[in-house]
Amino acid sequence: MQRPIYLDCHATTPLDPRVLTAMLPYFTEHFGNPASTHQYGWEAEAAVKRSRQILAEAIHAAPEEIVFTSGATEANNLAIKGVAETCFSKGRHLITLQTEHSAVLDPCRYLQTLGFEVTVLPVQPNGLLDLDILEKAIRSDTILVSVMAANNEIGVLQPLSEIGAICHHHQVLFHTDAAQAIAKIPLNVQAMQIDLMSLTAHKVYGPKGIGALYVRRRDPRVQLAPQLHGGGHERGMRSGTLYTPQIVGFAEAVQLGLAELETEAKRQTELRDRLWHKLRSLSSIHLNGHPTQRLPGNLNISVEGVNGQALALGLQPLAAVSSGSACTSAQLEPSHVLTALGRSPALAHASLRFGIGRFNTLEEIDRVAAGAIETIQSLRQRIL
Ligand SMILES: *Cc1c(COP(=O)(O)O)cnc(C)c1O
Repeated sequence: MQRPIYLDCHATTPLDPRVLTAMLPYFTEHFGNPASTHQYGWEAEAAVKRSRQILAEAIHAAPEEIVFTSGATEANNLAIKGVAETCFSKGRHLITLQTEHSAVLDPCRYLQTLGFEVTVLPVQPNGLLDLDILEKAIRSDTILVSVMAANNEIGVLQPLSEIGAICHHHQVLFHTDAAQAIAKIPLNVQAMQIDLMSLTAHKVYGPKGIGALYVRRRDPRVQLAPQLHGGGHERGMRSGTLYTPQIVGFAEAVQLGLAELETEAKRQTELRDRLWHKLRSLSSIHLNGHPTQRLPGNLNISVEGVNGQALALGLQPLAAVSSGSACTSAQLEPSHVLTALGRSPALAHASLRFGIGRFNTLEEIDRVAAGAIETIQSLRQRIL
């Protein structure tokens, strides 16, 4: 039996075979612990060093500023709780966005239970942060602003350079969750004045279980309290034996993504726009999020008179897509992201997310468009 076409690249992506090839020797031959001081350790250490260099260059950072973690969830936790713990004598106020991933919102909620204050800013109906609202929210006791680079549901890209400039002007640290953005849009921690940035490999055709936190070392030097204590790896910020094969795969994935960034962005934008153009031929279909300032492979729609879960289910034999965010699709509550855009609960429930990726073809998109139109029409008829 043929499996459905995979169109859920914001949940995770398939491992690129080239990435697997790069990883394999580090499971077997070069299995050493990078911290060991003998031949086996040195081989692993050299691979980690090379990978760290590649990842640092990808975001215009220095290798010493890359702290490996198990993924973006851990990187977000380390950034937010780590800064809160070291900066609480300066202030106890943090700022974030309503549309953030739960891996940012939940650490913030946790800090509230410890006595920190968190301002959760609204977004405009197109999903973008209003910079005036950000500037007005910054107080003398604000220690951190956390605003994501690219949204995992609606793909909207926040104006990082402008946010960085505002934070820098007010001497507040700027953290960004770039899990969806790395190697898909250009990222530059210098030009964008980013102090902390969370990354992950598995959204960019790398392995699951590996990510990193960029931690600025100069102007300003960011001090971070570790959240995992132990052997003092990663300059004391994150203990635990480095996972060499995953680190090698992470770097390979990012390198491939950067090499193909422009051609893939163009190709995926064309596929996305083609899909949207076909779907919008139906009446009462709405695009969620900014029409152009979004990830190339992201299309998020609300279909009036149709339940998103029913639609995703109806599409199942043909395509694997998600209604709302994958992390919350088990819940019956409408997506907090769509609600933040001002969508009614009915329209938020009627949403569908297409995540187009590197391995999707034009022929697949056309088949999915035809199948989705058919499914929507038949679901609507059933309601009438
Ligand atoms: C996937 C994702 C995460 C979580 O990353 P993991 O590496 O799976 O922990 C965090 N933030 C965003 C925006 C994501 O898309």
